[in-house]
This record gives sequence, structure tokens and C-alpha cells, in this order.
Amino acid sequence: MPIPTEPVGSLPRPAKLQEAIAKFDEGKLSREQLDDVQDEACRDSIERMEATGAPIVSDGEQRASSFATYPLTDTLAGTGLADNLAPDGQYFAIFTDGHHRQLPRLTGGPFRYKTYAADYLEKSLPMASKPMKQAVIAPSMLALVYPLDDEVPGYSREQFLNDLVDECEKDIRRCFAAGAKRVSIDFTEGRLACRNDPDNPWTGRGMLDQFVALNNRVLDRFSPEERKNIGIHTCPGGDCDATHSADVDYAELLPSMFKMNAGYFLMQLASEKDKEHVYELCGRYSREDANGVPQVCFIGVVNPQDPRVETAEEVCDALVTASKYIPKERLGSTDDCGFSPFSVDMKPKHGSPDFARDIAFKKIAARVEGTRMASERLGMA
Ligand SMILES: [Zn+2]
Repeated sequence: MPIPTEPVGSLPRPAKLQEAIAKFDEGKLSREQLDDVQDEACRDSIERMEATGAPIVSDGEQRASSFATYPLTDTLAGTGLADNLAPDGQYFAIFTDGHHRQLPRLTGGPFRYKTYAADYLEKSLPMASKPMKQAVIAPSMLALVYPLDDEVPGYSREQFLNDLVDECEKDIRRCFAAGAKRVSIDFTEGRLACRNDPDNPWTGRGMLDQFVALNNRVLDRFSPEERKNIGIHTCPGGDCDATHSADVDYAELLPSMFKMNAGYFLMQLASEKDKEHVYELCGRYSREDANGVPQVCFIGVVNPQDPRVETAEEVCDALVTASKYIPKERLGSTDDCGFSPFSVDMKPKHGSPDFARDIAFKKIAARVEGTRMASERLGMA
């Protein structure tokens, strides 16, 4: 069995699509017209990702407002916000370049998704000739739509969390029912929970273990056979070529993170300064048996925020080094993060979203080729 390789999910939206989203927000473009531009972007994303030789592809999340808000709003500007939400929720992240992203705020119950990830996947699957994966958002991120201290009138935190867990389970089950081969859960808030940013109150509340327990409430509803194909993605954030928690040592996150009973983990690693330190932590804390599934560590081998394209040789070397610490049967490769988790992202270090797409496909090709080389070198081809 060769070393498995899998993307996180998103790609920059073409400039044409970002312009269409802005016009849709202004009421100058119809829903159907936006759908057409999104379909075109998905088709292009799938074709070009398949052309890299990748064994499993995504549609680049071209229809999603963001990796976190797709269930709740059609656009980041708030067009099509779901019921019982107001736009002025908590910052879920403040990035190193000073910009922030904000969640909606729950104003009443019940909490329901307006859009499930499978609604997008069902439209994209007929465009693909290779197996597809789908990313979904973690309950621990959406838990932040409930006010941090106050109680929502007539809708207790407990009722909300019960509804949230039901919705997340449904989101994942519908992806598999639609035909997804793999489903990964975006968990960028895990590392941020260790940051204690005075400008962003929830990060100072020591919420990591609560997040892990909440996510396990969803994971534990799936059988070991199902959980082999359910992953968790961790990263220090990625938006407008900036991060939010790269200064947090993985040693603070990983002992808790691997308590989640997922079958695999997609981990930012290419942009880490001391990679061997993290490989060692993965080897130490990942579990051979997480309630019936081995935890496979997919290490990030390309950095979506850096326009320099990694070579296949660099990818191969990273995997061979990682195999000194992580059993090779539980090793995989991935991108450090989505290439554009938010729909509106000009990719400033790249100069334009269209150029950033070209770079993204070159990086994915390097990941695929370098992983093939590492499989050979490790006798797994
Ligand atoms: Zn990420």
C-alpha cells in the first residue's frame, strides 16, 4: 500500500467568482447566475486537481462562503443568513496581519443548518472521475455562535449543544450517503484555543478539552469502520496568506487532539520551524487504537500561504524523516491547510487569486509526486 495523500479541501475562488459574489451581495446578480459561475469554478477545480495525478480530489469548496460558515450563510457579507442568527457574533480568529473573521451570533432556538456540505458535493460529484473527499466544520467551531457567557432566551446551552451535535452528525452522514470517500472535520480552533489572545476572549478560556469532548460526541456516533474515513484537520489558520496561531507549540495541542476518536489527522507541518519536534509528538501521542481505529497522521508537505512551490524531493524527504517517528503504516501526506478557506481572499502574497490557483495545482502535483517517491523509498509502493 503506497502512502496515502489527500487535500484539505479549499482552493482560491477565481477573480471572476469573487466579483460575482460581490455583485450577488449588491443584488446585481441572481442566485442562478451565481450558481453558474460557481459550477464553472468547481468544474475547473476538479479537472485541474485530477490532472495533478491526485488519487482523491475536492471541488475546492468553490460554493462555500467559508469552511466554517457554509451551513449558516450564503456569503461572507451575510446574504442568506440562516434563521435565529444575527451577523455580529464573536471573532473566531484575529490573524497576524491584523484582520479578523467573525461568526454569526445565535439569537434563539432551534439551531439548524441551512446548507449541508453534501448539498454542494452532490452537484460536484458528477463533474469528477476520481473519488472525492468533503470537508465539514467541527461542532467546536460552531459552538462559538452561542454567546460565551449569556444564555439565549428560551434556548439553553445544553439544548443548543444537543441540536449542534445532531446537525454535525447529519452533515457527515449525508456526505457519505452522497458518495464522499472521505470526510475531514476542520478544527482550526483547536490550536487557537491554546493562544490566549487578550483581544479575542474565548481563546483565554481554556476551552480545548471541551472542544475535544464535544467533537467526540459526534465521532462516537460512528462505527470504527466509518471512522477510518473520518479525519480531523488542524492548522494555525490560513486566510489572506496569514495565520492566527502559528506561535502555539504543537506540544500544547497534540496530547488533547489525539484523544479524538478519528481515523486520520490532516496536520499543517510544512510551515513549522522544527518539524522533527512535531513528528516526534505525533509518534508519541497518536494512537494505534482509538476505540477501534488506528490514527493515521497525514503530515503537511506544502504550504498554501507561500508562493514558492515545494519540490517533490522536499516532499519525499519530509515523509522519510517523519517515518523515523511515525509508523509508516500510519503515515500520510496533505497540504498544510486549505488554499483559501474563505471565499473572499485576494491571496496578497501571491498577487492574485488566479495566479494562486496556478501555484496551488503545482504544489498539489509536487505533493503527489513526492509522496509516490517516498512510498518507493520506504518500500511501500
Ligand atoms: Zn486549515
